[in-house]
Amino acid sequence: MVEAQGTQELPFATVAIIGIGLIGSSIARAVRQEMPDVRLTGYDISAGVRERADVLELVDVLADTPGEAVAEADLVMFCVPVGAMKDAADSIAASLPNRAIVSDVGSAKLAVAQALRRALPDATIIPAHPVAGTENSGPDAGFASLFKGRWCILTPHEGSSKDNIARVTAFWERLGARVDTMDPRHHDLVLAVTSHLPHLIAFTIVGTASDLEGVTQSEVIKYSAGGFRDFTRIAASDPTMWRDIFLNNRDAVLDMLQRFSEDLSMLQRAIRWGDGDTLFDLFTRTRAIRRGIIEQGQDDARPDFGRTHE
Ligand code: NAP
Repeated sequence: MVEAQGTQELPFATVAIIGIGLIGSSIARAVRQEMPDVRLTGYDISAGVRERADVLELVDVLADTPGEAVAEADLVMFCVPVGAMKDAADSIAASLPNRAIVSDVGSAKLAVAQALRRALPDATIIPAHPVAGTENSGPDAGFASLFKGRWCILTPHEGSSKDNIARVTAFWERLGARVDTMDPRHHDLVLAVTSHLPHLIAFTIVGTASDLEGVTQSEVIKYSAGGFRDFTRIAASDPTMWRDIFLNNRDAVLDMLQRFSEDLSMLQRAIRWGDGDTLFDLFTRTRAIRRGIIEQGQDDARPDFGRTHE
């Protein structure tokens, strides 16, 4: 811990955010709210995003170059798409202070950790993944409460110092997150089933519906009040982000997809042979999973996610 603020110590005095989109701007807003004495610097490769970040006053110093953004940082947080991590890390390599801890928010951990290590062989790297987000992108989409009550998974490599892990943990806890530590390979497997596969299924269903020849696009939209509408929210997620996740968590996603295909075939058989017990038993188990998520405060308990039906 580096500096006193009131009764609580700040885990970092200067934080550099590289990539000021949904997640980067949410971190900036949350830091401003929860740790106002932290000095925030930022850089985004997009001139349009830098302009918006300036107008929204998201950081104290909006840098024109990535090197300038990290020059005085204690923590550098990469908030760029998974496939851009290596380039982003390369771009700061010459300016990174020795004392700085490097972290990221990438949704796939093994590939990102390897990319960061290749670009910054001597840096102290503590990768992280806040399991929080929305289907929107860009600096206007972020909000300070995004991480409140949500999990942030750290995937430090063996041999990382306890003190450094504690500082990154403290940073996320101050933003309202609950922190867990995991092996990166295990993280990728867990997220393949809880996040990556559901997105793949949503992309497939919405794609299939829009390709159906016998159903017009307007019917798909008009009658979307059932389960389909909820899939469209997920399928509206950022194309760059999700392309990169599937390309960078390939093995775990393919493994989960294989299991999913086998389970789907089993359900197909149950429907074909009129095996209602199999269907009923599965739906009873899946209902219990939803209840568990609500009991642990990870989603809105109101029916239909609290949408109004007036
Ligand atoms: P986003 O809103 O699209 O923001 C990413 C920003 O990074 C964009 O403005 C992008 O600019 C910029 N960028 C790309 N390459 C860069 C580089 N080399 N240097 C500096 N800036 C660069 O994306 P996001 O949703 O915040 O996602 C960021 C990361 O968070 C991803 O790794 C994602 O996997 C992870 N994540 C996302 C969610 C979620 O729900 N969205 C949740 C948890 C974790 P251009 O658009 O011009 O390329």
